[in-house]
Amino acid sequence: MPKSDGALKPTPLLELKADEFSEVAANAVKEAGEPAYRVEQLKGWLYERTPLSFQDMEGLPRSLRTCLEEQFILHPLEYDLDLLSEDGTRKFLWKQGRDESRIESVLIPDGDRITYCISTQAGCPVKCTFCATGYGGFTGNLSAAEIIDQVVQIRKRTEQPPTNLVFMGMGEPLLNFDGLCRALSIMTDSRQLGIGARRITVSTVGIPDKIRELSRSFPQVKLALSLHAADRQLRNELVPLNIKYPLEEVLDAVQEHCRRTGRRVTFEYVILPGINDSTEDARAIAGKIRKIHSTMNLIGFNPFEGAPYRKPVLKSMLAFRDELRRLLPGEVTLRRSRGEDIQGACGQLSLKNQGAE
Ligand code: SAH
Ligand code: SF4
Repeated sequence: MPKSDGALKPTPLLELKADEFSEVAANAVKEAGEPAYRVEQLKGWLYERTPLSFQDMEGLPRSLRTCLEEQFILHPLEYDLDLLSEDGTRKFLWKQGRDESRIESVLIPDGDRITYCISTQAGCPVKCTFCATGYGGFTGNLSAAEIIDQVVQIRKRTEQPPTNLVFMGMGEPLLNFDGLCRALSIMTDSRQLGIGARRITVSTVGIPDKIRELSRSFPQVKLALSLHAADRQLRNELVPLNIKYPLEEVLDAVQEHCRRTGRRVTFEYVILPGINDSTEDARAIAGKIRKIHSTMNLIGFNPFEGAPYRKPVLKSMLAFRDELRRLLPGEVTLRRSRGEDIQGACGQLSLKNQGAE
């Protein structure tokens, strides 16, 4: 169980793994003088319906609702606002209470698919040169409860349950490894949120040991590796964590992941015109990843204020895609950007993008 910061600080129930929850809830119910079956009722409310407050847990006696409210936190994130894009993409901003910064999540509808894009950190310490989150500063890791709360609040507020979850919001998930794993465990446990692990994707710039640990602990969770450059010098510049964890070592871990899980990895590649989209770049990429069981997702750079790159034109993106299609055995797709009008697109999530300005 996570360490409490002191006796007075209430526990967020969403932070608890299944066994921890059973114990904590049984004690609380007993202390309130209620029969043991209330634990099951509370569980249903917490993981299936998740109302916005304990007081809305109809069917539980009012006295128990009040006891729970005094002892526990139901939603560690405070809703701030949400913005709906013309294309149906919906961005949510959350407050953490302790400061002015905002956490962001995005709901992306696409036919029958409803994808939630979830954050794992407030900002990001990696500071990739093309990413607004990286420019926005970093204020800390999210707790498992804060990660999960994005899912349960969006589900409650939209009544559009997720078919897929992607950890592609703010932050580098593998730099918040404990928080990520705890959240994954609670999300996938059939006694808790029960979301299929195969419907979850973790996107990372690559930390070899953590990739290995993730594929051991959650072999069914999909892995996306943010590549962006095959040349060491260029990747050092674009993704500064490459200096500490060079691509070759990252790719070794990715290959192990594929062998262990028998699953493909997805490479993510932001096209930065004139920087990483030449024929030589395509050849260098093929040289590095041709043998890895993978697909490649290209996305055009999404500009933001102060960004040092241009938005690529469609023609050149298609040419780069076609070049890669010639060189790689796996599928290569050019992803369309969603929710640009609400700054909800990939890489546009930023701590500076606060409130309703
Ligand atoms: N930190 C993780 C997950 C969050 S970023 C990672 O980097 O993989 C999720 C995706 O958004 C990454 O593939 C990233 O490369 C992409 N992205 C970031 N900034 C972008 C931008 N300005 N335009 C398009 N995609 C961007
Ligand atoms: Fe962090 Fe990912 Fe953005 Fe890089 S692309 S700064 S790792 S969120």
